Amino acid sequence: MRISVIGCGYLGAVHAASMAKLGHDVVGIDVDHDKVQALCRARAPFYEPGFEELLAGTLDTGRLSFSTDVGDAAGSQVHFVCVGTPQKRGEYAADMHYVQDAVESLLGVLAPGDLVVGKSTVPVGTAAALAELVQEKVPGALLAWNPEFLREGFAVQDTLHPDRLVYGLPAGPDGETARALLDEVYAPIVERGTPKVETDYATAEMVKTAANSFLATKISFINAMAELCEATGADVKLLADAIGYDDRIGRKFLNAGLGFGGGCLPKDIRAFMARAGELGADQALTFLKEVDNINMRRRIRMVELAREVCDGSLLGKRIAVLGAAFKPDSDDIRDSPALNVAAQLQLQGAVVRVTDPAAVENSRRLWPQLDYADTPEEAADRADAVLVLTEWRQYRELDPVSFGAVVRQKRVLDGRNALDRDAWTAAGWTYRALGRRAG
Ligand code: NAD
Repeated sequence: MRISVIGCGYLGAVHAASMAKLGHDVVGIDVDHDKVQALCRARAPFYEPGFEELLAGTLDTGRLSFSTDVGDAAGSQVHFVCVGTPQKRGEYAADMHYVQDAVESLLGVLAPGDLVVGKSTVPVGTAAALAELVQEKVPGALLAWNPEFLREGFAVQDTLHPDRLVYGLPAGPDGETARALLDEVYAPIVERGTPKVETDYATAEMVKTAANSFLATKISFINAMAELCEATGADVKLLADAIGYDDRIGRKFLNAGLGFGGGCLPKDIRAFMARAGELGADQALTFLKEVDNINMRRRIRMVELAREVCDGSLLGKRIAVLGAAFKPDSDDIRDSPALNVAAQLQLQGAVVRVTDPAAVENSRRLWPQLDYADTPEEAADRADAVLVLTEWRQYRELDPVSFGAVVRQKRVLDGRNALDRDAWTAAGWTYRALGRRAG
């Protein structure tokens, strides 16, 4: 099939290359000239394990190309919309202008029988409004909503081997046509028996925001338990292990620490609350406000803990921050808890040096006021405290004995409960973590 993918960021670029991998002829369109140039040269514009190899391989087949000209989407039968839906400045709601612009730009190239497929995370009601627009301007063209669940760091695997497919389809015969086209796009995935849920537009849109709200709630639940553990002397890691053995609860997403960030969970729960308010159903989601609050409190607590270990004052203290990305195996620093904490420490007078295996370049661009180092050793040179704020494997595997030689004070704050506490304390470090007693 001939496919276009509008918006080639973390979601769209991986989707475009993955669709080519499935055997389709794909053109990826993005308004960002530099991004398109990089993609054409088989260079990933962001860090994502396995993506560059997939990109190079699919470009070599000749089935994948990239362009800044939406006119190159003409002739494709299926058009995926993968543009951003960030939080609006000064509001909780999602900024929908990228989605609106992308769909409007497609109107000039659509032909009857074409299918526009929304993948971006959008407020419920978006698909119905866009379907009306598409059908009015290009009679015979259809729209479906097919939310995406990929995780950064596992994006290639998640796109080619998703846990499930969700099709939000129009009613009646148009729905049959749209389903048949999507089944053709995803044929190898459908044929291997991947669960498929076919719904109306509103349910499909809500599946995504409900899933993210559940995940955010699970993280904030264990972080609320961490707050109580701090008040009682209990240990949140053991607590998570113990409750996680219950199949009904499950151990995943019960890692207490600095909480969630990134380009999805925070803005998605806020947009969900905003949309519920518009629909007069805000009471249904008031709990998400608390989920957000608990999450933000962890960042403040982390700074307090740093102050505590630095003998009550951060002024002039040298602090190494290991991690800038919002999660490991990504260079994404959108709403990064690590950078938030680093900035707070600096504002309180600490001399902060941040390092990250993949995200220093992005961080320098967005947070030029912070100081950066290439390695953990360089960041921790004569440090009064070391904070591990993103659980990269490189940091989990640091040798506390040799690393101890570079710092001024052997104090480590494990913001992700990722380190081996016994090994660090045995090497003479004062170990502190969220939700656990001092080691
Ligand atoms: P992103 O900011 O990395 O990428 C968006 C891209 O769209 C940018 O490259 C931008 O230049 C491009 N763009 C904007 N307007 C355009 C237009 N009119 N025509 C062509 N290109 C245009 O964002 P992302 O992380 O890829 O997220 C995209 C959407 O997918 C969001 O709704 C997000 O919530 C959702 N999502 C993201 C992930 C993830 O892990 N990143 C996972 C699932 C869903």
